[in-house]
Amino acid sequence: MKQYFSLLFIGTKSLLVGLGVTFRALLSPAVTVHYPRQKIAITPNFRGHTLLIQDRSTGLHRCIVCMVCERNCPSNCITVVGEKPEGATKKVLTAYRLDFTRCSLCGICVECCPTQALDFSDEYELAAFSREAYHYNLLEQVEKTA
Ligand code: SF4
Ligand code: SF4
Repeated sequence: MKQYFSLLFIGTKSLLVGLGVTFRALLSPAVTVHYPRQKIAITPNFRGHTLLIQDRSTGLHRCIVCMVCERNCPSNCITVVGEKPEGATKKVLTAYRLDFTRCSLCGICVECCPTQALDFSDEYELAAFSREAYHYNLLEQVEKTA
């Protein structure tokens, strides 16, 4: 009989402690959001796929087609294409292809770019049915927003 009441006491105490935790959580501010209807601001440290930055003063990208990012990418997932227009002294970027299926987001391309032309996007809602959907032309993306 003594053991019965002892177990009853322990069980009731445990239940009340558990309910106390639930009650405190009920009254504390919510830390979750109703995604996808609500979205939270992404931390600046988040690394989505790389993108060409749009220069605020010119509205254009800053890529000078030096190929440093392409040469240093350990995953070999960057292809920079440029051509020299007639009479011009410098190459002009005509395509910047990124195979995001192979990118490890190591950040080497962003760090080694001499003109700080690259940065990470805050894109986290990527979904597709084919690998080709993750083959980006970053030049087209930056020109769309220009
Ligand atoms: S390192 Fe920078 S400037 Fe050079 S090709 Fe890559 S993005 Fe363009
Ligand atoms: S983040 Fe790393 S793996 Fe991805 S494109 Fe840049 S250098 Fe290549």
